[in-house]
Amino acid sequence: MSKSHPSIIMQKAEEYRDYSANVLSSLIKIPSVSGNEEKIVRFLEKEFKKCGADDVQIDDFGNIIARLGNTGTVVAYDAHIDTVDIGEEKQWDTDPFSGEIKDEKVYGRGASDQKAGMASMLTALKILAEMKKPLPFTAYFVGSVLEEDCDGLCWQYIVKENKLRPDLVIITEPTDGKINRGQRGRMEIEVVVEGVSCHGSAPERGDNAIYKIAPIITALEKLNDVLPIDPFLGKGTLAASRLRSNSPSLCAVADKAAIYIDRRLTWGESPEQAVKQLESLPEIKAANASVQIPIYERPSWRGLVYPTPKKYPTWIMAEDHQFLKNAVKYFESLFKSKPVVDKWTFSTNGVASMGMFDIPTFGFGPGMEKMAHAPNEYAAIDDLCRCAAFYAGFPWEIVSRE
Ligand SMILES: [Zn+2]
Repeated sequence: MSKSHPSIIMQKAEEYRDYSANVLSSLIKIPSVSGNEEKIVRFLEKEFKKCGADDVQIDDFGNIIARLGNTGTVVAYDAHIDTVDIGEEKQWDTDPFSGEIKDEKVYGRGASDQKAGMASMLTALKILAEMKKPLPFTAYFVGSVLEEDCDGLCWQYIVKENKLRPDLVIITEPTDGKINRGQRGRMEIEVVVEGVSCHGSAPERGDNAIYKIAPIITALEKLNDVLPIDPFLGKGTLAASRLRSNSPSLCAVADKAAIYIDRRLTWGESPEQAVKQLESLPEIKAANASVQIPIYERPSWRGLVYPTPKKYPTWIMAEDHQFLKNAVKYFESLFKSKPVVDKWTFSTNGVASMGMFDIPTFGFGPGMEKMAHAPNEYAAIDDLCRCAAFYAGFPWEIVSRE
C-alpha cells in the first residue's frame, strides 16, 4: 500500500494525536489578539521548520507562510492566527489561555476559532514532510493575521504583494465536520447627514441633522425586510449598529448625524449595488445624505498599514467544481461516510481568496462554529486528527485525477 493511501494517512494522523493536542495547547497559551500576533508568528516560524517545511517566510504584513514541495498543483491551507479578546472573564470556567487538555478536548481562547485549524495543518505538514520526496504538488501553510479585524485583508496582501496565487485555498476555520463552500459577504456603511447649527433657544434658525436622519432610520429598518433571499446562503440583511451626532454644544441644534450599518450580502448582491440601493432611497435623497464605505487602516503587528474599504464580497464554490467533487470523494474514502456540504454563517478569508480573486476555495476545519468568540471555547482532539488526515491526503486525491 502506498504511503498516500487514505488508511495509512489516517493511521499517521492518529499516531500524531498527542502532537496535535499539545501543539494546539501551546498555540492557545500564546495570546494573539488581532494586531498582536508577533509571538505566535515567532513560535510558528520554529514549529514549521521542525515539522519539515522546505521554506518559511514572514511577509511584510506579518503573515507567516510555510511551503512544502515545488511543483504541480498549488494548494494553500489558511488558518488565521489572531483571535478576538476573551470578553467577560468571569464567564470563563478556567483561564482562557491555559490550553488545558481535558476529556479529549483542548480548551482556551482561539481553540475552535481557529488555532485548531493551524494545529491540524502542522500535523499534516509533518506527515507530508515524512513521505518520500519530491511531492507531486506544492502545499502552502499560511498563518494569516488581522482576520478578526478585517477578514481577507491578509490574503489581499498575499495575492497582490507576495504574488502568491494558489490553484486552491482550503480555509481551516471550524466547520462542525462539514465541508463549507461559501458564505454571505458583508460590508460596513455609514450614512451621514449634514445640518446647520444654531442656538438651541431658537431652533427655527437652524437645520437639525438629527430630525433629518430620523426618516432614514425608519427607511433602513423597512429595507431590511425586503432584501433578497438566496436558497443556499439565506437572506441579505441590514442592521443599524451605531447612531452618532454632533453639535457645538448640548444647547445647540445638531449639525451632523450619522448611522452605521452592518450589511450582509447574499448571493447576487454586490457592495456597489448595496450602496446604489441606499443612494436611491427617497429618504436619503431628501436629506441629501452621503453613503460611505469606511476605510480599514489599522497597522498590522509589523506596523504596516494596508488600507482597504470595508467591503467583503460574497462567494460560493459551485457544487460541481472539480475540487469540490475531489473533496467530497476524498472525505468519503477517508471517513467512510458522506460529508454534509454547507456554508458558514460567519465571514472568513474566503471573501478575498474567492470573493475578490476568484481562486477556488472551500472550507474544512476542526472545531465548531458556535464556539467562535464564546467563553469556554474548546476543540475536540478527534477533530484535529480527522482534519490533519484530510489536509495531508487531499492533494494526493487531486493529483491522482490529473
Ligand atoms: Zn475565525
